[in-house]
Amino acid sequence: MGGEGAHLLVVEDEPQIVRGLKVVLRNAGFDVRAAETVEAALDAVAVRPPDVMILDLVLPDGSGVEVCEDVRRWSSLPIIVLSALGDEREKVRALNAGADDYVTKPFGTDELIARVRAVLRRTADAAVDPVVTAGIVTVDLAARRVTREGTEVHLTPIEYDVLRVLATYHTRLVTHRTLLQAVWGPRYEAETHYLRVHVAHLRAKLEADASRPTLIVTEPGVGYRLAS
Ligand code: CA
Repeated sequence: MGGEGAHLLVVEDEPQIVRGLKVVLRNAGFDVRAAETVEAALDAVAVRPPDVMILDLVLPDGSGVEVCEDVRRWSSLPIIVLSALGDEREKVRALNAGADDYVTKPFGTDELIARVRAVLRRTADAAVDPVVTAGIVTVDLAARRVTREGTEVHLTPIEYDVLRVLATYHTRLVTHRTLLQAVWGPRYEAETHYLRVHVAHLRAKLEADASRPTLIVTEPGVGYRLAS
């Protein structure tokens, strides 16, 4: 499978990681450039915006969070953050600053390539597919209809709204803040307990085994993701 020539910018200062990523991503068909600092990253984006930016959080002249904040003032280009264990706070800051997704170092290259393709698909289908299939569940966004193994499932309006947002981002990470803003409104972005309650109800109605959820996946401390 090729990367269809999509243009990636890797922002990372560790030469071994940069070299490895260039090889792997070029083999996957992507066109890859690299930048080592916050300043070089912002220059590179200004000169030629990439289709996707892969952004390390710890850079010699600052934090990747600054790059996210700056880019988001004028561009919606997809940003995938590389975060090391222990960078949890910076990772959440980056996601709240508009990063689209993250992978945790050390990461599998297959996982990274899958994330890159998922964010590229988001840009490709600006009009979201009205029917999203996730395992045994389908969500028809146009008809507001949810089925599980072909049988219609009755959801409350709030449960449906939570599922609708997850389905719109299908396979991509949705932060607590994004979900709370979309379903309850901007004043509720700290109320993560609302999500715990309604996600538990959704899992009880939709998952094959609600005690071991595989459909609505928890990203600890960050958000949720609807599986493929
Ligand atoms: Ca680094």
